[in-house]
Amino acid sequence: MNSTLRIAIQKSGRLQEDSLKLLKESGLQFSNGKDQLKTQVRNLPIELLFLRDDDIPQYVEDKVADAGIVGENVFVEKQKKNELVRRLDFAKCRLSIAIPRSESFTGISYLEGKNIATSFPVIVQKYLDKNKIKAGIHEISGSVEIAPGIGLADAICDIVSTGSTLLSNGLKEVDIVMQSEAILITTPELEVAKKVILDKLLFRMQAVQSAKNNKYILLNCPNGAIEKITSVIPGMKSPTIMPLSRVGWSSLHSVVDENDFWEKIDLLKSFGAEGILVIPIEKMIA
Ligand code: ATP
Ligand code: MG
Repeated sequence: MNSTLRIAIQKSGRLQEDSLKLLKESGLQFSNGKDQLKTQVRNLPIELLFLRDDDIPQYVEDKVADAGIVGENVFVEKQKKNELVRRLDFAKCRLSIAIPRSESFTGISYLEGKNIATSFPVIVQKYLDKNKIKAGIHEISGSVEIAPGIGLADAICDIVSTGSTLLSNGLKEVDIVMQSEAILITTPELEVAKKVILDKLLFRMQAVQSAKNNKYILLNCPNGAIEKITSVIPGMKSPTIMPLSRVGWSSLHSVVDENDFWEKIDLLKSFGAEGILVIPIEKMIA
């Protein structure tokens, strides 16, 4: 029997667009109509299920889906039989404690005896236990940030990315409970034939993610600087070096990590690099 890998992704919301984008950039061809509940990938034995993000860990535990894309916060909250197989580098946010701006935060002990509103009671309870704080947890499923304003709670624990929602509700962030990003989860009991399909997808995701984190860089430099420059941007194996028609100069091609890009550029310039071009990479396979 031919196996199909079923991957659950969010039906609509913060994770949906980037999840679809990553799958498409990984070469999966599919159409996703607005009200579709599932779709068959045309060029691989993969089926996509569109579900509410909160339900995905349970579906994966029950093996209705073999894998899924969820926020790490949901994965930790749900405590289902799921395995984290890959961090996906999008939907980055944090779960934080926030209190009314007029209050002064004296440290975590401020929360002792208080009431905290949240959609993530398991995560908050763990955080309180770890810090030996006794506080009440009031679980609500949405609009958590209005809870202190309407007298429902003294503090909240909610998702923060820029902090603007907190600000407009008269709250301030006082402690980070956990960092989160989108992750790929699977059942720990994936059958071999499905694992083969998953591994193929993971290999492609790796290529897409590495490409995003790296840039192709071309520069001109005096031959005397090649060694120093190579030590800064060693590339995947080593840089490509081609002589310029101008005597004593070369063109050097390599890759550079997006994260420390600007520091490296400054260094390269100080070594005599000129005419630096930086180009996005679409896929990168080591
Ligand atoms: P659903 O209807 O599927 O239950 P939801 O309202 O629970 O959706 P979303 O708001 O779409 O969830 O958020 C989904 C996930 O995206 C969150 O669990 C979190 O991991 C991440 N996320 C939420 N808000 C942000 C944000 N502002 N910035 C970055 N990531 C976020
Ligand atoms: Mg949800």
